[in-house]
Amino acid sequence: GEHIVPGTGARRLGVMGGTFDPIHHGHLVAASEVAARFELDEVVFVPTGQPWQKSHQQVSPAEDRYLMTVIATASNPQFSVSRIDIDRPGRTYTIDTLRELRARRPQAELFFITGADALGQILTWRDAEELFSLAHFIGVTRPGHALADPGLPDGGVSLIEVPALAISSTDCRARVEAGDPVWYLVPDGVVRYINKRQLYRDGGEEAAGT
Ligand code: ATP
Ligand code: MG
Repeated sequence: GEHIVPGTGARRLGVMGGTFDPIHHGHLVAASEVAARFELDEVVFVPTGQPWQKSHQQVSPAEDRYLMTVIATASNPQFSVSRIDIDRPGRTYTIDTLRELRARRPQAELFFITGADALGQILTWRDAEELFSLAHFIGVTRPGHALADPGLPDGGVSLIEVPALAISSTDCRARVEAGDPVWYLVPDGVVRYINKRQLYRDGGEEAAGT
C-alpha cells in the first residue's frame, strides 16, 4: 500500500523547478522567502529531466542532480524533492510537471516559483495559457535580471523581492572546473558530493547558462 509521505497534505504547495546542476543557495533562499511570504505549507523541488531549453548543453546525470537537491533540502521540514520530472521519459515541460502535481495532490493550491530570468520566458513555454490555470506564478528577483510581469493573465503572477544572491549553477560549474572554491555558494554537503562524484571537471560544459 501507500506509505505516508511527509507533507502530502499540504494545502499551499510551492513548486521550485530547476536543473539544479548544482543546487545553490540562490535557489534555497528564493524558496524559503516565498514560503514565508505566501504562507506555504511546503515547497517541493522538482529537478528537471532533460531540460528542453538546455538540450544542446551537457547536463549532469539526473540522479546526481536529484541527490544534490535531496542533500541540500533534507534538513528543512518544509522542503521536499520530487522525482516526477526525472522519472518521466523525454524532455521536461513545466506543463507536464504541473498537471502531474495537480493530479497527485488535487487538494493543493500550487505556487510555481521562478527567477526573473526564467519568468521572462514563460510565455514561450508549451501550453502557456493552461499553465496559469494550474498554478499561481511567483517571480523572484535575481541579480543581473530585470523582474517584470511578462504580460501574464491578470493576477496570474506575483513579483517579489528576495535577498540578492549573485550565484548561478553555471558559475559554480565553472569554478569547480577552474579549481576555485564553491564553499558557501552551495551547501556543504553539495560541495562534498561534487568532489565525491568528480562532477564538472571534464571541461565539457558550456560557459553560458539559461
Ligand atoms: P544555470 O546557470 O545552469 O542555468 P541557474 O543558477 O540559473 O543554473 P536553474 O536550475 O537554471 O539555476 O534555476 C532554477 C530556478 O531558480 C529558475 O527559476 C531560476 O531563475 C531560479 N534561480 C536560480 N538562481 C537564482 C538566484 N541566485 N536568485 C533567484 N532565483 C534564482
Ligand atoms: Mg538557469
